[in-house]
Amino acid sequence: MSFQDEPTKISDVMILVDPGVFIGTAADLNDMRGLSEATITHIVTVDSVDPGPLLPVDSRFCKKWINVLDEVTSDLLSHMDDCYLFIQQAVDGGGAVLVHCQAGRSRSATIVTAYLMKRHKMGFAEAYHRLKSVKQDVQVNGGFEQQLCLYEDLQCEVDTSDPLYKQYRLTKITEKYPELQQVPREVFAADPVNSNSSEASYRCRKCRRTLFRSSSLLSHPVGEGASAFSHKKSSNLNEGIQCTSYFIEPVQWMEQALLGVMDGQLLCPKCQSKLGSFSWCGDQCSCGRWITPSFQLHRNRVDEIRLINIHR
Ligand SMILES: [Zn+2]
Ligand SMILES: [Zn+2]
Repeated sequence: MSFQDEPTKISDVMILVDPGVFIGTAADLNDMRGLSEATITHIVTVDSVDPGPLLPVDSRFCKKWINVLDEVTSDLLSHMDDCYLFIQQAVDGGGAVLVHCQAGRSRSATIVTAYLMKRHKMGFAEAYHRLKSVKQDVQVNGGFEQQLCLYEDLQCEVDTSDPLYKQYRLTKITEKYPELQQVPREVFAADPVNSNSSEASYRCRKCRRTLFRSSSLLSHPVGEGASAFSHKKSSNLNEGIQCTSYFIEPVQWMEQALLGVMDGQLLCPKCQSKLGSFSWCGDQCSCGRWITPSFQLHRNRVDEIRLINIHR
């Protein structure tokens, strides 16, 4: 495809990456001639500076503004699907889009890479390489790179009920903790005692109080055993390396215990027996894998209850 071989330079910095999709800088907003030559109809601003005042009052662009700083802790993953839709609608409608941040290197490059991944069903590496081949100075920050890899793992569809996304969201909260005065309510799963469900549930072994449902499990790939467990590796490599805890998302009954402290015990809300522990800094599973943050309940303190469906 010719647009790949010869990057079309409309202005000094605005660069065509994919049919109808340009990447650029904040300075491009002042270049009305460049914008009109590129037939730009839509503008995606990925910047902490409001683009409104930079554009002429009478300009009629469709605008989308993602207010984020270029920091590793910033969340762009949660915006990737929205931006994709916005860009796709513009392109499919015969328009053209400028995706810009301040320097056109990290934030806008992240959104454009995510777009290429989803549009062309590419992995992160391929999409990023394609962008870099037309704009060499692109350099997404480490946090955004991780988010793009996660976007690939999520098959370019951010599903908020996916354990991978839940773990990501918890990690983002942890990065702001303990400055956070309060854990956002939406990260807590509803207390299972307040609702019925056909999902498998998990009860306190001692008092049978329902603690969480299977959708709250945040499973992880079994680690190869950290050096701390090296004594187990001698004969049977994988035997004996198991997860002895359930790692789950926080559930409403934990809320009081989690507030204002970095780590602590998790007690049954009914009988107060010790079930496990949590740590915002993360903890190591018995299999060797680090989980950050971690909310874990010992398997031997909890019973799994499966509902059996009887088909007639
Ligand atoms: Zn494990
Ligand atoms: Zn109990």
